[in-house]
Formats: sequence, structure tokens, C-alpha cells
Amino acid sequence: TVRTRFAPSPTGFIHLGNIRSALYPWAFARATGGIFVLRIEDTDVERSSQAAVDVIIEGMKWLGLDHDEGPFYQMQRMDRYKEVLAGMVSAGQVYPCYMSMAELDALRERQMANKEKPRYDGTWRPEDGKVLPPVPEGVKPVLRFKNPQGGVVAWEDKVKGLIEIKNDELDDLVIARPDGTPTYNFCVVVDDLDMAITHVVRGDDHVNNTPRQINIFRALGKEPPVYAHLPTVLNEQGEKMSKRNGAKPVTAYAEEGYLPDAMVNYLARLGWSHGDDEIFSRAQFLEWFNLDHLGRSAAQFDEAKLRWVNAQHLKAMDDAALADLVAVQLGKKGIVADDRLPRICGLFKDRCDTTVALADWAAAFYADVHPAESELAQHVTDAIRPALATLGEKLAGCAWDKASISAAIKETTTAHGIKMPQLAMPVRVLVMGTAQTPSLDAVLELQNQQTVLNRLQKS
Ligand code: GLU
Repeated sequence: TVRTRFAPSPTGFIHLGNIRSALYPWAFARATGGIFVLRIEDTDVERSSQAAVDVIIEGMKWLGLDHDEGPFYQMQRMDRYKEVLAGMVSAGQVYPCYMSMAELDALRERQMANKEKPRYDGTWRPEDGKVLPPVPEGVKPVLRFKNPQGGVVAWEDKVKGLIEIKNDELDDLVIARPDGTPTYNFCVVVDDLDMAITHVVRGDDHVNNTPRQINIFRALGKEPPVYAHLPTVLNEQGEKMSKRNGAKPVTAYAEEGYLPDAMVNYLARLGWSHGDDEIFSRAQFLEWFNLDHLGRSAAQFDEAKLRWVNAQHLKAMDDAALADLVAVQLGKKGIVADDRLPRICGLFKDRCDTTVALADWAAAFYADVHPAESELAQHVTDAIRPALATLGEKLAGCAWDKASISAAIKETTTAHGIKMPQLAMPVRVLVMGTAQTPSLDAVLELQNQQTVLNRLQKS
């Protein structure tokens, strides 16, 4: 079985660039009948927060990226890491290194002066026949991994193709700090092993860790998983998307009225393609998705495109389902909708790109409208007031269906010798707060009769 994972660090509010790294492994698990694991990498205690974990969980829930196992928290797995570490100590795969910070700094400076890449020089690495320096007193050592010497570490990356790194370019990684706590790259390997991960899909900021992780896998007698390193997501300014340069938390998009399926569609295309297909459902995406069509170049976030994708999904959505989402947005305005809402959504969805925009329209059916003075002045003129009065009378005695409303409007224009728009525009402004509405009889039919009469009287 395919087993994938999403392993975010809760050190900030997860943004769209981050959550795309959840979408692909999730989709791959779903597409293959596999298992998707959620793992919270919270070992950076200073920078991790529960609030950030909450946004991860909420954001994934909103997008429907459901996990089968977890969330596992690395901080709760420390005993397990230490257990594996102890095994490596007894197997002689790690060794204590007593080099002090000052010595390391001096070493680095010498190497830089010689134009060499700064790296640990193996002073404390035990070798047959090598005499190690005397152990300094009162110093707690770090534990370093005995990286293989010579040869290459290679893997066939699903995005980047074959990557080969010479072992001699990798120094002996610190895998436990002086206080015994294991370091990041080691924890990841133990987790990926224990969770039996078959495919690691993650950001390419981790590509430098991969050869080190592969060597640790092999030291533990296991073969590494398949890797797919995703290119960066850039923001609209072309910088790497990050909360520091204004990326919003994923959950903000729920607030702003985006649809989970539209967001999945948009994020899917941000680094993966299926021919020229731009708009697709979740089910269609899962049918098409595999790791073979992940893009190799950085993708750029484009909010206008996201809005467009959202509008397409909104239009295609079932009115009742849409009404449920719009009801939530109306609730934020203190409005409780009724059973007219699905039809209201059906009437207005073509002109909206978010559920927030749709809720703004729907609000005119449940709360007072406030037409702009300029629109009132332009459309509700003294010349038209007598016709508005006639319409009010006719609508007062009218059966409240589209045909009767339509007849009342027609009779009024005939009686006053005016053209349809001369009457329809002021009615729209008064009843809906703006002249730009769908066809008047359809709008009025969905309005409450008494509300219409009251608003016409305000002219
Ligand atoms: N915790 C890492 C991050 O947030 C991901 C590590 C991984 O996927 O292996 O970037």
C-alpha cells in the first residue's frame, strides 16, 4: 500500500504554498487507495505553537484533506528516537564528538580562508588504528552519524529526476545534541520508517537533507522511500511565498468565501497539470492525479486566477449546497436565512466569484438596503414617482408569482406611457439597493411582498 504523509512544522500560520505540500501526498494516497498520515514536526519548541497547529488542522479540514493516521507529534516521540539512537550507538554507527563551538568556528574560518566548503573534518571519528584526541573534561559531546565515505547517494526524484551526491560532500551529521535530544533529520527518518512511508512528497527546500536521510535509512538497514521534491510557490511579487511577505493563513480563504473544491482545483494546478484542463472537480482530480506530472519549475500564486477558478466552481455548484455555505456568511452579518436562499443563490451565482459576494446580494432579501445617494438621484426622479405609486398599488393586490408580478409591471408602464427600464431601474435601486440586478420579476418574486411595498413607499 502507498503511504504518504504531510509533516508541517507549526512555526507559523500555514499558507497556500505550504498546504499544497499536503494536497499532493493526500491526493496520491486517495488516488491509490493508500494511507495519508499527518505528522506535526514540533521539535522547534520556541517557534512552535498550538495556534499554528490549529490552523493546520482547520485548514486541512476545510479543504477536505482528511488524514487516516495521526496527528503524530514529534515531541511525543522523543523516547522512540532515543531508543533508535541507542541502537545506533551500540552498532558503532554514531560517535561522540567533543569539538567545542570555538573549535568549530576556527575550523570553519580556516576552510573559508582556503576557499573550501565548511564542513566537519572528522577529528573525533573513530577509525581503525586512529588515535583520537584526549577526551576533554566536563564536556558533553554531540553524537555524529558516521556517514559512509566514498561513493554516491543517488535517488530518482519524481520531480527532479536523478540526483546524485558524493558522500565525500556530506560531513558527519550531528544527530543528537549534548543534552541527548535528537536532531531534525534523524527524527524524520525514524518517523518515515515507523510510519512505513512509501512516498515522501515535500518542498524542495528539503532536497539537501535527502542524501543525509537516505544514508541514515541505510545505516538502519532499510531502503528509503520514493521522493518527490516540489518546486517553490512564489507570491505575486515573485518572491518565495511566506508569512513574512504577506501570505495569508489558509483559513483566511474560507473566511473570504472561497470554496474548498475550487481551492483544491487551484492548488492542484499550481505545480501539476493534466493537459490543458483548468477546471475540474475533486473526483476528477483524484482520478487523474499521479506523481508523474508534477511541474519542475516554480509556480506563481495569482489571486485573480484563484477568483476565476472559484467563480467557475460557484456557478457549477448545486444551489442547495451553495446556500448552506452562503448561510454561514450571512450568519456573520447576523442574518438568519430561510428556504428562499437556494433560489436566491441560483439567481445571483453567475455574477459572483465568492460566497461572500453572494451573501452580500442575499442580504438584500433579509436586511435593509442602503442605496447610494447618486443612484437614487439618477433613477428615482420626481417624474417617475407617480408610476412607482401605481406599481405599488398593483403589487399590493398581486398574487406573488413571476407572471403576476410581470403583468403588474407591464400594466404600469403602459398606463404611464413609459419604457420598461424607466420603471425597472428605480425599482431595483429601491428594492435591492442597486440598479445592477438580474431580471426584475425574478428578483421581486424572491423578495418578500411586504418588503417590496415598504421599500417602494420610501421613494
Ligand atoms: N517539517 C518540514 C517543513 O515544514 C517538512 C519535512 C518533511 O516533509 O520531511 O518544511
